[in-house]
Amino acid sequence: MSEGKTKTCPFCGEEVKFEAQKCKHCKELIGDKACPFCGEIVKVAATKCKHCKSELIKSSLISSPKATSDSNRLGFAITALVLGILTFILRIGLRELALENQLTEVEAFWGLMQVGFFILLSLVFGIISLAQKRGGKGLSIAGIILAIISIL
Ligand SMILES: [Zn+2]
Ligand SMILES: [Zn+2]
Repeated sequence: MSEGKTKTCPFCGEEVKFEAQKCKHCKELIGDKACPFCGEIVKVAATKCKHCKSELIKSSLISSPKATSDSNRLGFAITALVLGILTFILRIGLRELALENQLTEVEAFWGLMQVGFFILLSLVFGIISLAQKRGGKGLSIAGIILAIISIL
């Protein structure tokens, strides 16, 4: 008669099969799982391992949505770096031409305006990327540094 053991669902208090991983009444997860950090058995619904105190839910929740939008988030940092490099090349080229006196004043002026525009863009993209913690921190910083060097 006693067909298997039962346990009480910690969420709704109904009786469920002892092996059940999920309560059939309230659909909460109630089974056990091995802690990925220490290997001890913890509740499936546990957010923190009671043995090693590692956060359990958090890491899995954060990693999955992040992975899908990673390329998206890196876009700003990459743009900042590319703009920074363009700015730098433009600035070097302009400086060379100016040194060789190959530019009229008007050309030099518009050249500087262009460089200024690129500097602004790379700074904006780099700073937005950093401020929103979009990842690619190194790329953003490199873009910002290149832009700043170009100002000098
Ligand atoms: Zn339940
Ligand atoms: Zn653990």
